[in-house]
Amino acid sequence: MWAMRSYRAKDRWFPLRGCFGHNARLVQQTTESAGKMPESIAIGGKIIAPGESDELELRVARLPTGDWLSLPTVILNGQRKGPGVWLDAAIHGDELNGLEIIRRVLAILDPAKLAGQVLAVPIVNVFGFVQQTRYLPDRRDLNRSFPGSARGSLASRIAHLFMTEIVDRCLYGLDFHTGSLHRTNLPQVRGALDDPETLRIGRAFGAPVLLSAAKIKGSLRQAAGRRGAHVLVYEAGEPLRFDEQAIQAGVQGTLGVLAALGMWDSPAKGETKPFEASATRWLRASRSGVFHRHASLGDRVAKQETIGRISDVLGHDERPVKASIAGMVIGYTNNPLVHQGDALIHLANLEKT
Ligand SMILES: [Zn+2]
Repeated sequence: MWAMRSYRAKDRWFPLRGCFGHNARLVQQTTESAGKMPESIAIGGKIIAPGESDELELRVARLPTGDWLSLPTVILNGQRKGPGVWLDAAIHGDELNGLEIIRRVLAILDPAKLAGQVLAVPIVNVFGFVQQTRYLPDRRDLNRSFPGSARGSLASRIAHLFMTEIVDRCLYGLDFHTGSLHRTNLPQVRGALDDPETLRIGRAFGAPVLLSAAKIKGSLRQAAGRRGAHVLVYEAGEPLRFDEQAIQAGVQGTLGVLAALGMWDSPAKGETKPFEASATRWLRASRSGVFHRHASLGDRVAKQETIGRISDVLGHDERPVKASIAGMVIGYTNNPLVHQGDALIHLANLEKT
């Protein structure tokens, strides 16, 4: 019932999307959404009718070889009207869990039973993906390059293409990440939780931890938020690895969000109440040396509790790593070799549970 109420609320909201003024197609589409029937989607040289899905390539630029650099994209156009949701992964090219999450979600969804549209881009930073690196060839971070421009750097052009072809067609977005190099994250969802609709879908995702996170300048989440989209960032696992637990939580979370939006009937998975945190803090190395971690992902720790130690190579001059706040361990470095000031353990401050 909650999902249906919410969906009708969204339906009324659709025409306001035109106020953002970026895209005539969007105005046409949203006006249509408020009417009787869904309409076909024209994208990447293809037309996808209601109740159908298709795979296509969104062209960015030519490679030096003459081949096209393009974003692999899958469009599901639901048989019934509803909102648009995008799924994206590998904006950081070495963060792979989202790729598998999207593959499994697409294997489940059926456009004939879907309400609304799902636009999936499983690899956004295609260059970084091939090179197995976070960045683009010029070391630019794609997730600091949004909203981008049509005439900017390669990162800027990819960002611009994603904004105009994907974000501008959607009211919701799920952006899949992992920890950065040598770091592992507990499955967690981040978003602007002061926005009630983002909070609602964040809870529907049902990850173990829900974080109210500041918007990072140049990130997809910030740029899409400014265009009126409700965006969740899912962070789970580590780069260049598939983490089965993180993938399963991501698949269930995505289906939970689609169910909360009235787009897909998912079997009830029972009440899951994530820990909701308003702030996080990294514990940093007080000296260079060898780091031994005593706490695991998901552990609750007390303030001043010793949860690691750093010593020299032979174990001399040992210093404790103490929790500066009471909280839950949501991430850590996997690399035992640390320099003074390096981030060691990430704690979420669990004020509200
Ligand atoms: Zn990332």
